Amino acid sequence: MAVIKVQRPKLGIGEKVYFGALIKGFFLTMGHAIKTLRGKSVGADTLHSSGLGVTMQFPEQRWDKEMPEHYRGAPTLVTDEQGRDRCVSCQLCEFICPPKAIKIEPGEIPADDRWNKVEKRPKEFEIDMIRCIYCGMCEEVCPEQAIFLRKDYLITGLKRADMVHNKKKLYEIGGVRVGLVNKWNELK
Ligand code: SF4
Ligand code: SF4
Repeated sequence: MAVIKVQRPKLGIGEKVYFGALIKGFFLTMGHAIKTLRGKSVGADTLHSSGLGVTMQFPEQRWDKEMPEHYRGAPTLVTDEQGRDRCVSCQLCEFICPPKAIKIEPGEIPADDRWNKVEKRPKEFEIDMIRCIYCGMCEEVCPEQAIFLRKDYLITGLKRADMVHNKKKLYEIGGVRVGLVNKWNELK
C-alpha cells in the first residue's frame, strides 16, 4: 500500500505565538457580550428571546407560532366529528413502523353497536414515544385517516412508562378530525 506523506503547513511567527488568535477571539467575545448587554444579540427577533443571548427562554417563550404546517410532532389517534374511532385495527401502521413503536390490541365491535359495520376498533393502542422517530409512515399507510402526526413536541415523562402513550392519551392529543372517512360512506 502506497504511503502518502502529508506536508505540515509552515506557520508564520504570528501563528506560532498564538497572540493574534487570542486577541481576535477576545474582540469577538467582547462584541457578543456588548450586543447581549444592549439586548441586541443575533437571533433575538427570530427566537423571540429577550435579546440576552440567542437561546430562547423556554418554556416561557416558545416557537409554537412559527411551526410550519408540515411539522411532524407526536403521532396521535383521531376521532371523527361524532366521536367515533376512525381506526379499524387493521394493524398496517404497527407493521410498517420502522422502530416497532406501535402496539395494537384489536377489539371486536359488538353486533348491537350502531357502528358494527366495520367490525373492529382498537381495544388498546400504544405508541412508545421513546422508540418513535417521528417518520410519519403510520400516517402515510393508514387507510382510514385515523392516525396523524400533530404538532405536539412537548413529550416528556419522569419514567419510561410515562412515555408510552395509550389509547386514551392518543385520543386526548389527537382530538377530532373533521372530514370524509370512506368507511362511513354509504356509497362505498
Ligand atoms: S411516526 Fe414513524 S416511528 Fe413514530 S409511530 Fe409512526 S411509523 Fe412509528
Ligand atoms: S391507525 Fe390506521 S393503519 Fe393503524 S391500525 Fe388503525 S386504521 Fe390501521
